[in-house]
This record gives sequence, structure tokens and C-alpha cells, in this order.
Amino acid sequence: MINTNFIFKESHYRLLFENSMDAILITTVSGEICRANPEACKLFGKTEEELCRDGRAAIVDLGDPKVALAMRKRNRLGSTREILTFIKSNGSKFLAECTSTIFQDEEGFILTSMTFRDITFYKRSVENLIRSNEEIIFLATFDYLTGAFNRGSFIQKLKIEIERAQFGNTAMSLLLIDIDYFKHINDQYGHLGGDIVLKYFTECAQSRLRPHDFLGRFGGDEFVVCLADTVLSEAAGIAEQLRTDVEELNIYYNSTLIKITISIGVAQYKLAMGKDTDAFISKADECLYRAKANRNCIVIEE
Ligand code: GH3
Ligand code: MG
Repeated sequence: MINTNFIFKESHYRLLFENSMDAILITTVSGEICRANPEACKLFGKTEEELCRDGRAAIVDLGDPKVALAMRKRNRLGSTREILTFIKSNGSKFLAECTSTIFQDEEGFILTSMTFRDITFYKRSVENLIRSNEEIIFLATFDYLTGAFNRGSFIQKLKIEIERAQFGNTAMSLLLIDIDYFKHINDQYGHLGGDIVLKYFTECAQSRLRPHDFLGRFGGDEFVVCLADTVLSEAAGIAEQLRTDVEELNIYYNSTLIKITISIGVAQYKLAMGKDTDAFISKADECLYRAKANRNCIVIEE
């Protein structure tokens, strides 16, 4: 509802101009600055006299290719809103959302009103948000210590591979791997020493695997590998190579050499397992359980 007690005066326009939190300039179409409000002086670090003396060319970064485009757009449409680069009196550059509108005054002079809003803070916030988002996605996908897929994302990838195997009727195998006597390593070298061992193991496994294989950490010292397009005998070969690689691996922690071995259960996907990842993993787990009877060996499903 309009407040009928309020009488709007011409002076209110001046007060608006003077009190605006956005920087405002009145310019000629050719770029001379006629008026600058206090916020514009603050934003560009110049007095109104200096702004009027130096003109628009002194505050616009002419190296920004969007400037010429924005001017052309404004001349064609009468107004434009763009994010452009501007220059302060100390030479520093900043991004601002700038509106520019052409109008005609009572005497027929063509003028332009320009408003500026510094978006450096907003841009930095967006960049931080994008970075945080990337970190969240990384943490939700990968194990923070080793960089292998975490349990959840591994299972998701495995589901996709199962569908591919079902659709294409192709073979697929799984290796379930557990480091032998890992508790002893933690006891002897501390948790940090144990962490180094987990990292070394992951690197060793990644370098043995083929590009389309993927490794997940199921938790603690238990890892899992999905071998797409791989029959059981081929998977057994890869498991045996990996077991030997790990046996030969020299792990150094504080200049001390640590040697480890692993046990591996090897299973092949069967169509009868349907989409049940648990059934597939259980098969490999049964084999790993049997391998643990001797350790430093692989057991293939019967
Ligand atoms: P086994 O030969 O039967 O596998 O014996 P093990 O000593 O390796 O026993 P197990 O696999 O159950 O040991 C897992 C240990 O891993 C127990 C836990 O304290 C340790 N662990 C779990 N997560 C981490 C981790 O992130 N870092 C370290 N350093 N240790 C971990
Ligand atoms: Mg273990």
C-alpha cells in the first residue's frame, strides 16, 4: 500500500544516489564521467574530481575482452549487466557486476548510468564452495589414507560391472586380500608405521593392476580388487603375481625395512548370483578364510 503521507521530492533522487551501497557513475556515452557517488569513490579509491578528470577509460580494464562486447550490447539494447574487470587507483584489478543504462535527460543529453558491485568476496566464496564440494566428493569416494576406492563406492562400481557382465555375458573375477599379521606391524612400528605399510601396499597393487581393474579398501588391512573381463584362471595368475610383488616389496619406515605378505581369495562371478554383490564377495571371502590357514598364499574357489 502506498504511504499517502509520504511526499516524494526530487531531492530524494540525490539522497538515493549519495546513500546507495552500490557504486554509481553518470557518464557520457563516450566515457567522460560527470558524477560519481561516495560509494564509487570508495570502490575505485579516487575522489569524485579524480574520477571525472580521468574518465571511464581509467577504471575499466580494457584488456578484458568482455568490455568491448558489453559496450556493443549496451549500445544495441540500451542497457546491459555484465561481470567485468575494473581497476582501482592503486592499479589493483577486481571483478564487479556492472550495469550500464543509456538515458536522455530533460535537455536531450544522452547519458549513461553505471552501477558497480564488487564480487571478489562472492567469487572467492563460490571458489571455496566448489573446492569444498570437490573435497566432499573425494572423501565420499576414496579412502582418505590410501586413495583406493572406499567400501561404498567400490560396491557401487562393482554393481555396474556386474550389470555389464550380465548384459555382455562376460567373465569377471574378484580378489579379496588381507595383509598377514598386520596387528604385529602396528604393535612393532606403531599405527603410523602400519599406515605407511597400507600406503606401500596400495601403490604396489595399483602398479600391478591393469587400467580397467579397480582396487577398494574394505577396512583395516582388507582390500578388494575387481577384475573385469577376467576368467578365474587369469585372475589366479594376477593374484599370484600380486602376492609375489608384495612379498618382494621393500617398505621403509624411519629407515627400517619392513617386509609383509598377503593372503588372497579368488572368485569368479556366476550369473546365478544375479545382482547380489554380497554373494559374489562372500565367495571370495570363503577363499580368503581358507588362505588364512597358511597365509602368504592364494586360494581359488572350487
Ligand atoms: P591376519 O594375518 O589373520 O590377517 O592377522 P592380522 O594381525 O592382520 O589381523 P587383522 O587382519 O584382523 O588386523 C587388522 C588390524 O588392522 C586391526 C586394526 O588395529 C588395524 N587397523 C585397522 N585400520 C587401520 C588403519 O587405518 N591404520 C593402521 N595402522 N591399522 C589399522
Ligand atoms: Mg590381516
